[in-house]
Amino acid sequence: MPSCLIIGECMVELSPKDPHTLNKRFAGDTFNTAVYLKRNLPDCVVSYVTAVGNDALSQQMIDTMQLEGLDTRYVARSRTHTVGMYLVSTDDSGERSFSYWRSHSAARNLLNLVTLPDTCFDMVYVSGITVAILDVPQREQLLRDLASYRERGACIVFDPNYRPLLWVSEQEARDWITRFYAACDLAFPGGDDHAALFSHSDEHAIVRYLHNLNIDEIVLKRGADNIEIYQQGKHTSVAVNPVDKVVDTTSAGDAFIGGFIAARLAGYTSEVAATMGADVAGVVIGAKGAIVPADYYQSSLSNRTNRNASGEVIAAE
Ligand code: ADP
Repeated sequence: MPSCLIIGECMVELSPKDPHTLNKRFAGDTFNTAVYLKRNLPDCVVSYVTAVGNDALSQQMIDTMQLEGLDTRYVARSRTHTVGMYLVSTDDSGERSFSYWRSHSAARNLLNLVTLPDTCFDMVYVSGITVAILDVPQREQLLRDLASYRERGACIVFDPNYRPLLWVSEQEARDWITRFYAACDLAFPGGDDHAALFSHSDEHAIVRYLHNLNIDEIVLKRGADNIEIYQQGKHTSVAVNPVDKVVDTTSAGDAFIGGFIAARLAGYTSEVAATMGADVAGVVIGAKGAIVPADYYQSSLSNRTNRNASGEVIAAE
């Protein structure tokens, strides 16, 4: 049975239902990826590591993780802090903006509250947001943990997911993101992140930088444009199936990674994985919210791809 450890922060998401009512859901980049990985590869043990509080809201978050089939054994409980929260606001022209209450969340103290499991995983996934919310000793601890998983054969997966507000300075972000890149085997760099942090003006500059850090597999997702894969000196380009109506691109990248690593864990090539990642993301951007309802998800995904019984893509539509 494949296994994947995912480490990060899940938050309460509040979004307007009407001018007087808010919807409450749970979301966060690594959590979103964990959900889409599990939905795509139900046999996989997806262990999600975060920290929550001892209140009813934290319990609802854990219940939601369990409903999605995630393994919550390693979710830590803080006695003093609770979960972070963000509010989505939409202006008259439909433009979305976000307000955050996460600076004192339990997850900031994650690695002081939980010792990561001393077992083997096929994959371990962290993002730049996971790194950004931790203090320096916890970041160092996380790097040691990743090195130890890697030694035991895990594929370390990293998406820099640069959020300037979570870092003290650009320099700080650049240094830490580079160290985590150097600790990974599979990376999902973003063009905007690299332009902002490293002044990389094109894909070649990104790939050159990452090759120097000895990353085995680099996957560049670029919205509706082709996905570019660089794997051990080989470059392939995979087309993205068009999406008729893009409703909400929140978590497109997270969903893509969930679909991609599900396919890799099931033994497929990077090219098949890219097609699956794009199909998953294509479904997610067709509806509102980071985590789309499971029934909508399953029916839209099977309409989008033709698969055999073991989930293999036979032909994309
Ligand atoms: P991020 O959310 O990290 O910025 P992207 O915008 O590159 O990521 O989107 C991730 C994936 O979502 C893309 O590789 C693609 O598969 C899918 N996607 C995003 N936007 C579109 C779009 N307009 N049409 C079709 N697919 C899209």
